[in-house]
Amino acid sequence: MVLGRGGYKFQNWAQTYGSTPELYFQPTSAEEVKEILDLARQRSKRVKVVGGGHSPSDIACTDDFMIRMDKMNRVLKIDKDKKQVTVEAGILLTQVNEVLAQNGMALSNIGAVSEVAAAGVIGTGTHNTGITHGILATQVVALTMMSASGEILDCSESVNADIFQAARLHLGSLGVILTVTLQCKAAFHLQEIQLPSTLPEVLDNLDRHLNSSEYFRFFWFPHSDNVSVFYQDATDKPPCSKSSWLWDRFVGYYLLEFLLWISTFIPRLLPGINRFFFWLLFSGGNDRVDISYKVFNFDCLFKQHVQDWAIPIEKTKEAIQQLKSWLERNRQVVAHFPVEVRFAKGDEILLSPCYQRDSCYMNIIMYRPYGKDVPHQDYWSEYEKIMKRVGGRPHWAKAHTCTRKDFEKMYPAFGKFKTIREKLDPTGMFLNTYLEKVFY
Ligand SMILES: Cc1cc2nc3c(=O)[nH]c(=O)nc-3n(C[C@H](O)[C@H](O)[C@H](O)COP(=O)(O)OP(=O)(O)OC[C@H]3O[C@@H](n4cnc5c(N)ncnc54)[C@H](O)[C@@H]3O)c2cc1C
Repeated sequence: MVLGRGGYKFQNWAQTYGSTPELYFQPTSAEEVKEILDLARQRSKRVKVVGGGHSPSDIACTDDFMIRMDKMNRVLKIDKDKKQVTVEAGILLTQVNEVLAQNGMALSNIGAVSEVAAAGVIGTGTHNTGITHGILATQVVALTMMSASGEILDCSESVNADIFQAARLHLGSLGVILTVTLQCKAAFHLQEIQLPSTLPEVLDNLDRHLNSSEYFRFFWFPHSDNVSVFYQDATDKPPCSKSSWLWDRFVGYYLLEFLLWISTFIPRLLPGINRFFFWLLFSGGNDRVDISYKVFNFDCLFKQHVQDWAIPIEKTKEAIQQLKSWLERNRQVVAHFPVEVRFAKGDEILLSPCYQRDSCYMNIIMYRPYGKDVPHQDYWSEYEKIMKRVGGRPHWAKAHTCTRKDFEKMYPAFGKFKTIREKLDPTGMFLNTYLEKVFY
């Protein structure tokens, strides 16, 4: 019998959202997950499953029952011929990366962090960059899920195909994902070439940049034209790096946090801080080679607020220019660097922000130096207005103010997802406050 404990306090990575579930469970098997769902049904409780707890929103919060899947973290099968791996849903990508490397394989694309769970990372549509690559959930070829009734469903392109296209980006709203099968590829090294550039150059030559590198992205430094371009491509070269970890850590972490904290008292310093860090860290360029996942992952420094919308790729220039000129007209508003711009291929996943269209993701950030909240509401709301005007769809894990009416307009398959959801979870066992705003 799996026991839940009271008094557990859940907090997400950025410590921006939290909740105190009535009972907190760490099951070790599907049978134990079923026991929890049975108990929830008897007591009319809702259930929220949490993975790595990295979502910068209240998507994983609940006051009822919380299930953390960290004890369901085994690698179940490695198929070297098909280059596929089947894992329990609570496994962190850190562990997946290592097991794959030991077997000569790798994921073809991952986001900035690997301390996220296999089911959690797909659940919110986590993405990286590369216009020939979809969001991470497109690497899922099969999964198993326990619905609210306790039934275990196998899902893939050929079995329960409609549920599969919903469950690949499930929002934690369909059931408990138990296992995930991921399509991998042969292990590879990545060479990252970082080059300084300017916003007009990058926006005017976007197609050329996109075609020049498999994993192209760029950082724009608000309040300036400065841009840092990143090309990442597979290489046979051995790992090597010119930059010093100690120097990066000192400058990128301690000095930046201190200066951002100072700028909370004197905001007019911020444009100069953005320009200073561009000059210090990015103006000279860089070149490094490492194992793929070590290049995909990068240090996200300290706690932060973020928004990240996917817009039609052809709207990239228009959207960034609108944000830039609004910041120029409203000099009292300050914006931290970087605005990170990434790209992803369109897909058929019902609630994917890239559903049926190639997309540009534009991630804005406001750090919380030493945990201090920095005013960002004006910046946030203007950014949202621009994203909506150009037909954007918000990242499900990150901050946004959208509700059902918005999603109905944004997602052609929203109604289909909702029907599937209501069939799998007729009593709303897997809902929470975040999901009520999405579906009701
Ligand atoms: C430092 C940092 C860097 C990031 N970088 C990126 C990035 O590069 N690209 C990007 O797109 N996003 C990024 N994110 C966002 C992050 O990838 C997503 O929030 C992701 O969903 C986190 O995974 P998790 O395992 O922590 O999920 P959680 O936050 O724990 O959960 C996410 C959702 O999945 C559900 N869930 C989890 N496990 C299960 C399960 N077994 N069954 C059913 N539902 C489940 C939860 O209920 C919730 O709805 C970043 C976040 C941080 C904090």
